[in-house]
Amino acid sequence: MGESQKRDIRKLSLSDLEEFFVAQGEKKFRAKQVYEWLWNKSLKNFDEMTNISLTTRELLKQHFEINHIQVDLMQHSQDGTIKNAVKLFDDKIVESVLIPTNKRITACVSSQVGCSLDCNFCATARLKRMRNLNPDEIYDQVVAIKEEAETYFQRPLTNIVFMGMGEPLLNYNNVLSAIDKITSPEGLGMAPRRITLSTVGIPKMIRKLADDEVKFNLAISLHSAINETRSRLMPINDSSPLEELANALKYWYQKTKRKVTYEYVIWEGINDDERHAKALAKFCKIIPSKVNIIQYNPIDEGEFRQAKQEAVDMYVQILEQQGIIAKVRKSRGQDIDAACGQLANKNEVAELSKI
Ligand code: SAH
Repeated sequence: MGESQKRDIRKLSLSDLEEFFVAQGEKKFRAKQVYEWLWNKSLKNFDEMTNISLTTRELLKQHFEINHIQVDLMQHSQDGTIKNAVKLFDDKIVESVLIPTNKRITACVSSQVGCSLDCNFCATARLKRMRNLNPDEIYDQVVAIKEEAETYFQRPLTNIVFMGMGEPLLNYNNVLSAIDKITSPEGLGMAPRRITLSTVGIPKMIRKLADDEVKFNLAISLHSAINETRSRLMPINDSSPLEELANALKYWYQKTKRKVTYEYVIWEGINDDERHAKALAKFCKIIPSKVNIIQYNPIDEGEFRQAKQEAVDMYVQILEQQGIIAKVRKSRGQDIDAACGQLANKNEVAELSKI
């Protein structure tokens, strides 16, 4: 069998693997052993599977390969944040980020190569090329950060956010299958409540999450609760306006009884006035929710500027008056372009421009 015909073994489920072993006249329980090596222990080659006989390892090598990601470049920020440029089996690159705080170590992972959504303020949107990541490519990013947390901080990974490159709900099956692995005992055994999926807010897919009764947290990149402003920032709002998003969120809450988080950047001259703050407070009443006010991370010399502190204070005051929890989040890893919206494979682009 030629190299190119070998299958990526991590595309197989445990029962697929059991079928393979039985068809080869091997014991069924081998599948579980191999599966644990592949996921729980994250092995990158078959020869390290020490409880598997040499003949069985050769059999596996004949049929399969392990398309493990490689951390191509690791950058350390002054504030402790680490950014990984991760090379995939087809040489494409995505980025993931380790964010340390006093209480937590969070992995921010990518779900797609590039992004198709064209949000005007986001650097990832400038990357045209795109493909979905496979479940193992998402899983491997988490494992790489888990290992870095242990090596550089001697602390465990505590949280995962799908806030890297891409729109997770446009890669629904692979993202859910990765989360399944991350939370299962054969994988990393992490609690779903420590995982947050962030989306631009695709109503149909939010309903699907609710129907699938997922146990992780949902965050919506809102940025404006006024259609006209939101459409200017995020073209997705033209096809999925706030009313539809609101209905999908009501459905989500009915089914899951879980709060959502709204991510919100305040820009000077765009949404830094009282009208926008009040509209946000009103939107927050639709279902139980809280707000994360994130600092704008400049991506170019363009029209967007972080609002003044007074505007941020005004938002917090209006939200708190209405009993809504609002947290102001400081930007992390800006010096290495690791902050929200800055993931754009800058180093790769720089390399290419040298050619
Ligand atoms: N597509 C998903 C996942 C990306 S998350 C989503 O949009 O939710 C990245 C988060 O960073 C989103 O909330 C996004 O709106 C925000 N973001 C994008 N560009 C930013 C920038 N330049 N500064 C601050 N936040 C930004």
